[in-house]
Amino acid sequence: MTTSFKEPLFIVMMGAPGAGKGTQARLLCEALGIPQVSSGDIFRENLKNQTPLGLLARQYMDKGALVPDDVTINMVMDRLAQPDCAAGAVLDGFPRTLAQAAALDAALRERDLRVRLAPVLEVSDEAVINRLAGRRVCRNCQAMYHLEFNPPAGDPTRCDKCGGELYRRADDDPETVRNRLFVYYKQTAPLVGYYFAHGVLKPVDGDRPIEVVQADLRAAVAALA
Ligand code: ADP
Ligand code: ADP
Ligand code: ZN
Repeated sequence: MTTSFKEPLFIVMMGAPGAGKGTQARLLCEALGIPQVSSGDIFRENLKNQTPLGLLARQYMDKGALVPDDVTINMVMDRLAQPDCAAGAVLDGFPRTLAQAAALDAALRERDLRVRLAPVLEVSDEAVINRLAGRRVCRNCQAMYHLEFNPPAGDPTRCDKCGGELYRRADDDPETVRNRLFVYYKQTAPLVGYYFAHGVLKPVDGDRPIEVVQADLRAAVAALA
């Protein structure tokens, strides 16, 4: 797949928790040669390193609530200002509120850039609950697995890519998942309308095999070039 896009490619992955944003973002980034910027991964990295940001974020993440906008926006804008994002990035988990979306637009506009595509992965509540229940993440490289739908090829407790230990996220317990879904519908789902109004929304049926969803996403990106 070519990456010779005239304009830097900023893509925003939308969808409920467990819809497959991280899985699809990672595959898309491998194909496009641009970085994946996952706000959740950055928070978890900070938590692992016990930074003040990580300790603050934890109070919200543990409850399935959103980390406050000012903290989140500063963190992601710092990341997008790094040189490796010059040709674009696939954002996964950000923006999650209208204030975050507006801040992203303003920062890109300053550089004469914009969000080019906002795919929304459409998946039923029942499917996302099953996906989160069986989700496992590599402690070392953050690769995503599912006990049933996307298990590692070899040892079921180890990452195929790096051999790292697979773990279950604390916020993937059913109680917290219910709250995360509630927060999604209340605070994040309105962004679907926002990106529709900006002419960049691309609804994608996320209830199909990973490779089939990925093929649709690549076709949508190819249509931009
Ligand atoms: P998922 O992949 O299940 O959607 P994430 O890894 O993206 O979850 O996010 C995990 C948690 O990190 C969220 O429940 C929230 O507490 C926090 N978080 C991640 N991104 C944001 C954001 N853009 N704004 C506020 N909080 C966020
Ligand atoms: P999100 O980033 O939107 O929270 P993930 O990419 O972490 O979602 O996916 C959630 C879980 O569902 C993971 O365990 C992943 O392996 C699994 N998964 C992702 N896409 C699919 C799919 N198309 N079909 C079945 N399971 C999937
Ligand atoms: Zn790994």
